[in-house]
Amino acid sequence: MTTTNALPIKTTCPYCGVGCGVVIEYDSANNIRVKGDPEHPANLGRLCSKGSALAETLGLDGRLLAPEIAGIPASWDQALDHVAAQFRNTIAEHGPDSVAFYVSGQLLTEDYYVANKLMKGYIGSGNIDTNSRLCMSSSVAGHKRAFGEDIVPGCYQDFEMAELIVLVGSNLAWCHPVLFQRIAAAKQNNPRLKVVSIDPRRTASCDIADLHLALKPGTDVLLFNGLLHALRKHGQLDFAYLEQHVSGFAAALDAAKVTGASLPETASACGLKEEDLSRFYHWFGRTEKTVTAWSQGVNQSSSGSDKVNAIINVHLATGRIGKPGMGPFSLTGQPNAMGGREVGGLANQLAAHMDFDSPGHWDIVSTFWKAPNLARRPGFKAVDLFNAVADGRIKALWIIATNPVVSLPDVRHVRRALGACPFVVVSDCEDNTDLKAYAHVRLPALGWGEKDGTVTNSERRISRQRSFLPAPGEARPDWWALTQVAHRMGFEQAFAYQHPQQIFVEFARLSGYRNDGMRLFNLSGLQNLDVPAYNTLQPIQWPIKQPNGRGCRRLFHDGLFSHDDSKARMLALTPQPAGNPTCAAFPFVLNTGRIRDQWHTMTRTARSPRLNQHMSEPYAELHPDDAEHAGLKDGELAHLKSRWGDALARVRVSADQQRGSVFMPMHWSDRFARHGLVNALVNPVVDPASGEPEFKHTPVSIEVYRPAWHGFAIAREALSIDAAEYCAQQRGDGYFLYELAGNTLIADTAGWAKPALCRTGHEYLEYADMTAGRYRCATLHNNILMACLFISCGRQLPDRAWLIGLLTTETTLTSTARMAVLAGKSPVAREDPGRIVCACYSIGANTLSKAIREFGYSSTEQLGQALNAGTGCGSCLPELRTLLENTRRSL
Ligand code: SF4
Repeated sequence: MTTTNALPIKTTCPYCGVGCGVVIEYDSANNIRVKGDPEHPANLGRLCSKGSALAETLGLDGRLLAPEIAGIPASWDQALDHVAAQFRNTIAEHGPDSVAFYVSGQLLTEDYYVANKLMKGYIGSGNIDTNSRLCMSSSVAGHKRAFGEDIVPGCYQDFEMAELIVLVGSNLAWCHPVLFQRIAAAKQNNPRLKVVSIDPRRTASCDIADLHLALKPGTDVLLFNGLLHALRKHGQLDFAYLEQHVSGFAAALDAAKVTGASLPETASACGLKEEDLSRFYHWFGRTEKTVTAWSQGVNQSSSGSDKVNAIINVHLATGRIGKPGMGPFSLTGQPNAMGGREVGGLANQLAAHMDFDSPGHWDIVSTFWKAPNLARRPGFKAVDLFNAVADGRIKALWIIATNPVVSLPDVRHVRRALGACPFVVVSDCEDNTDLKAYAHVRLPALGWGEKDGTVTNSERRISRQRSFLPAPGEARPDWWALTQVAHRMGFEQAFAYQHPQQIFVEFARLSGYRNDGMRLFNLSGLQNLDVPAYNTLQPIQWPIKQPNGRGCRRLFHDGLFSHDDSKARMLALTPQPAGNPTCAAFPFVLNTGRIRDQWHTMTRTARSPRLNQHMSEPYAELHPDDAEHAGLKDGELAHLKSRWGDALARVRVSADQQRGSVFMPMHWSDRFARHGLVNALVNPVVDPASGEPEFKHTPVSIEVYRPAWHGFAIAREALSIDAAEYCAQQRGDGYFLYELAGNTLIADTAGWAKPALCRTGHEYLEYADMTAGRYRCATLHNNILMACLFISCGRQLPDRAWLIGLLTTETTLTSTARMAVLAGKSPVAREDPGRIVCACYSIGANTLSKAIREFGYSSTEQLGQALNAGTGCGSCLPELRTLLENTRRSL
C-alpha cells in the first residue's frame, strides 16, 4: 500500500471516545502496521481489539470513489452544481428551514465546523443535527443545566487516582476498552480502589467490580436520589461547598427525600438487595476520591438528562468535582462527538459553546462570522428532523458520515420519510450502505488514514488525526465538499479555506472572541498555529488560552462554574417512568448496545475477519428462565416484535441478563443481516430536555422463529442470496459465510441455489433428499472448492470450520473429499474451536474450556502462557476470566 508520507506517522484511532493515539508504520514485510502510541496520554501504548485490527480495515474494495447523480457517475463540478442549485431553489421557494444537514461524530472538527457555519451562519437555519444526538446529548443537557456549559471536568488520570469508581450504564470493557484496561491496572496497583457497576446487565465490566448493582431498568434517578438523601442523613454533605458554589441544593435535597428517604423502599423499587444498596451508599459516603462515570445506559433514556443530573447532584453535594481522583465523568461514545459539541454541531447550539438563548452569544457568532443571516432559533433534533422530513417540512437533506436508516429508532419510519424526501445528498466513504437507495446525489468522502484534521476525546483532549494514505479515486474531504457548495451558493468569501489548518485556527479564534472568561471553552492559545505547527500539534486538553499553553487537566477546581453567578446548579429530580411501559402483549424490556469487536453499522470493522469472529450474527440475549418460559433454546432463531416493527436474531441464553430484559446489539444493518435490524423494534420516544432517544427501553415480545429450513453457505466471493428470510453475512479470512433460514419450501432450493453459487465454467455438485428435507451443493473450479451450501429442515448442519478449511486452501478435492462434501461429513473427526474469544490469536471458547479442564489452568496468565489467549490487546481478558470461572465451576 502506498503512503503519502514517510512512516512512522502518529494519528488517532477512529472508533470510540477514549481517543487512543496510534503509530502507523511498516512491518518487516512492508505492510502497514498499527500499534498503540506509547506517548499518547489517552492510551500510553495500549490498543483494544478494534484498534489493533485497524490495518485490516484499509483497502479500497467497497469504497465510493466518484460522485454520482441519480446513481450515474458524475464529475465533482456537476454534483456540486446540482447540490447547490437544489438547496438554493428549495430555500428560495420554501425558506431556509426547509433544508437540513444530518452529520456525525465521525467527522473531524474541521468538517463539523464548516457544516455548522454553512447551515447556521449562511443558510440561516438551525437545521443541523448529528448522530451524537443519539448517544450523548443527555450528557450535554445535564452538563449545561448543572455547570452552565457542556464540560467534562476531569481527566483519565482521575480514574487511576480514585479510590472508588462507579460505572453507571457503562460496559466500559467493551465500549471504552482501553480506559477499562487502565482501571484494571490501577486496581491491581491499588488494592484500596473499589469498582461498582450499576447496570441492569452483568457485563464484562463486572469482571473488575467489587459490587454489581443490577438495578431495575430506568431506576437510576431513584437510586441516586436515595444516595443524596443518605449522604444528608449521615452528615456527609459538604455544606460549606454548597453554600459557596452551588444553588438549588435545598430543593434538590427535598426532592431526594420525597423518593429516597427509605432505604428498603428504594432498594425494593430499584430491584436491589437492601444490603447491596446500603454498601454502595456507605462506600460512596466515605470515599472522597470517587469518580462516577456513565455512558449510554444513562443517556439513552426518556429521562436521560435527569439521570445525568442525579449523578452530578451527588458530586456537587459532596464537593467532589474538579479535584484529583474525583468527579462526574461522561464517557463519550464516538471519536469526535466532543469536537461536534464544541463547534456547535447539535441543532440547539450555536458554536464554540455559545447558545441561541444566552444573551450576547448570537451577536458574538454573527459578528465573528460576518453572518447577518445567522439562525435565530434552534433547529430540529435528530428524531424530529426525520419527522419533519416525513411530513414534508424538510425538502432537501444532506447526510454526512452516518447511516440514519440503520441507527435511528423506529427506522422503518425513517426509511419511509427518506424515500419521500425530494432531495437527499449522501456523503460517505463506503459505497454499499443501506442509505445508498435513498440518495439522489452521492459524494465520495475520505476515510480514516486519508483525512486530516483534529478530534477531541472524552477528557477534552484534542489530538491530530493525520493522513498517511493518498485520497483514493475522486474522494475528497467533507470540509472541501461543503466549502465548494458554499461557494456555489454565493458564500465564497466566508468559505475560502484551502487547508484544514485555516479552519482550525478560525475556530480557535472564535472560541476566544469576546470571551472575557465567560466561556470555559477557549482555544485561543492555538489561534496562531501555522501549518507546520498544526501538523505537529501534540495532544492537548482544552481550555488553552496561551500560546504554548500546556492545556488543562481539570476544570471547576476553583468552584467557579459557567452560570452567570458562577455557581453550579443542583436539580430537584422526580424519577420518571420509561416512555412506553411493558404490557401483556410486549412483556420484555429491549435494551440495545455495542459489542466488543464491532463499531457502529460495521462498514469498517466488518472488513476485518478476526473482528467478525467474536460475535458473528445479530443476537437476542435473555435470562434462562425467560428463555424456558418462551420455549427458546440457545442458538435458535427468535422473532422479536414491538409496536414499531420486528426483527430476527439468534438466541443467547445467559444469566447475565435479568428476568424480563432482552439485550440486542445495535450494529447489524440489512447489508450484514436480513431482518436483523434492531432499530426496526426501537421506540422513538425521546428525552424532552435533550432529544435523545430511549434506546434502552422498548417493550417487545419474543418467540421462537420456526423457518421451513436452516442452512449456511460458504464461498470465496460475496454471494447474493435473496431466497432466505434470514441471511447473516460474515467475512472471514478468504471466505464469506452466510447463516441462513427460509420460509419457502425446501423443494424450491435448487432453483435459487445454482444461480446464486455457481459461476460460468464451474462444476456444480448437488445432493437432494426432499423426504428428509436436505439439500447440499458445491461448486468447483479445476476440482478446487469455490462455494458450498447446506440446507436442512432441522438444525443439524455440517461442521463449518472443516468446510472453511477446505475452501480456503487451494487443495484439489479427491473423490473421497468430493463425496465427503456432499455427504456433509468430515472424513476426520474435528474439534469445533467454538465462538472466538481471543480475537488477536483466534482462540475459541471450546478450545479454552478444554484446556482449562484438561490442564487445570486457573488464571488468565496460565491461559496466556499456554495458548497466547489474552496476550494481544487484552480486550478479551474479562471474557477469559468468566470462562475460567464457569468452566472450573462445572468441573
Ligand atoms: S479503546 Fe479501542 S476503539 Fe477506543 S480509541 Fe482506543 S483503540 Fe480505538
